[in-house]
Amino acid sequence: MHEYNGRPVSYGGGVNSTALVVMLALEGWHGPIVFSDTGAEWPETMEYVALFGEWLAERGLELTVLGPEWRRGKEQMTLIDYCEHYQVTPFPGARWCTSKWKVEPLHRWCEANGYDPDDMLIGISADEWHRQQDKDRPLVDRGIDRDGCARIIVEAGLPVPRKSGCWICPFQRDSMWRELHRMHPDLFERAARLEELSSERRGEQAHLYPGGEVTLRQLAAGFEAQTEMWDWLDYYQPCMCRV
Ligand code: SF4
Repeated sequence: MHEYNGRPVSYGGGVNSTALVVMLALEGWHGPIVFSDTGAEWPETMEYVALFGEWLAERGLELTVLGPEWRRGKEQMTLIDYCEHYQVTPFPGARWCTSKWKVEPLHRWCEANGYDPDDMLIGISADEWHRQQDKDRPLVDRGIDRDGCARIIVEAGLPVPRKSGCWICPFQRDSMWRELHRMHPDLFERAARLEELSSERRGEQAHLYPGGEVTLRQLAAGFEAQTEMWDWLDYYQPCMCRV
């Protein structure tokens, strides 16, 4: 426990990092909890961040949300504004979005506040042990898997958060696009329009939906013709950001 105390946690708003913070907080850990807001986070994620911030405040802990002031130059735009302005989509291979809107703001915050970014604790669960093995991962150290994370959160009296990430993320599964289409049609429309803007610039079809075969407008037409189903696999999908 002592090796963790006082060290900052990189918070992502999802199941694993919430469980990590809850577990440490209940053990008496006291350190900064830092979340970098891309400006394209799912609305439900931002609602959860606010709720969790209240839970933490009751325990004398503070959740710091990093906004544009921690980004540089043209990246001070929100991720969605940037993508629309430059007619680009987040690219799964390069992950420039993760780097510029997540990792670099967290590193700048650490450096400005006297922490080594390499000392950040991250919420990787035991079933993702292969990820970021160079980092300190208290959940992996203790063998806590995704179900264990959910239990920690529920036992603390908190709701289990949805999968975190951006609503324009190309790593999203079918069910998340379906949810976006149903719950936030305005955001789905904006994502579909972004795909078109990017296609215009590139001179070929751009795809936010994985696989590169279906456009979001085609996907929407399919959703409207389908019976909706909850895809439980999503529960086991961590955020794909390498933060
Ligand atoms: S959640 Fe997806 S779109 Fe958002 S920063 Fe991470 S990889 Fe990029």
